[in-house]
Amino acid sequence: MSELHKFLFDGAPVRGALVRLTDGWRELLQRRAEAGGYPAPVTELLGEMTAAAVLLHSNIKFAGALVLQIVGDGPLKVAVAEVQPDMAFRATATVTPGVDAAADLVQLVNVHGQGCCAITLDPRQRQPGQQPYQGIVPLHDADGHALHRLSDMLGLYMRQSEQLDTRLVLAANDEVAAGLLIQRMPTAGLGNLAGRGHERSEADEDEDFRRIATLAMSLTRDELLRLDADTLLHRLFWQEHLMRLEGPRSAPRFACTCSRERVAAMLRGLGPAEVESILAERGEVDVGCEFCGQHYRFDAVDAARLFLAQAQQPPGSDHVQ
Ligand SMILES: [Zn+2]
Repeated sequence: MSELHKFLFDGAPVRGALVRLTDGWRELLQRRAEAGGYPAPVTELLGEMTAAAVLLHSNIKFAGALVLQIVGDGPLKVAVAEVQPDMAFRATATVTPGVDAAADLVQLVNVHGQGCCAITLDPRQRQPGQQPYQGIVPLHDADGHALHRLSDMLGLYMRQSEQLDTRLVLAANDEVAAGLLIQRMPTAGLGNLAGRGHERSEADEDEDFRRIATLAMSLTRDELLRLDADTLLHRLFWQEHLMRLEGPRSAPRFACTCSRERVAAMLRGLGPAEVESILAERGEVDVGCEFCGQHYRFDAVDAARLFLAQAQQPPGSDHVQ
């Protein structure tokens, strides 16, 4: 079973989360295998993205999808990992054939320095005119050197854009996608009037975070993939006062949000002329979901209904037979 654990450190302004995606991750890859599967470096990157997206969403209160997306300028054209508030996740990547099995992140997505990575928060109920929030994740450090790990890119993003000191360890293979996140909690009160009388100084709290972050960063990718959550947390933090948070959140699971209704709405958006021309050419409209591999087929009769329904139904009703 996939698992997500959240925890705090008693007395220290540090929180953490550990995710291990197992059955859901394998299902996602299995569905993709029918379309040829991914080369190993892409499996690894997409798994790390998915684990990271679960960790980041689990750390915020947001009623909508968190989407982590990379648009690459190398053999990887695009990779997307999406997580819903109930921790349902899906992910997909588009790759040109012939990826070097030893390709690293830079060789995969940032060959000419034009790769791009973004985090989007897309509200479930978007108000008219409301745009999703988007943050740009740097692919280079402050000196302009390309970062070779997704965990470093996201750590830098959290520091620069969210002012949150964050360390991540991420790893994935074709069995497990896993991640550990350690974050310094924003401390209310320190440095202002309300903070007076605090027993612990800012220097103590810096030291707490540094110590726990150093322990977290000693975790190897191999250990992260191999060890179960209890063993891993004990091995890293046995000298700390770690407190597990039992949250109401569900365990992460693979699930796709595609539906025949959504595909129908997209076809209506194309317009009758475009749909007619596809029908004339191929006899049916066959739309495959990139995330889960589900096919939605519309023959001439379905297509006619699509636009008939639109003409007869009041705006806003979006139901197809
Ligand atoms: Zn789907």
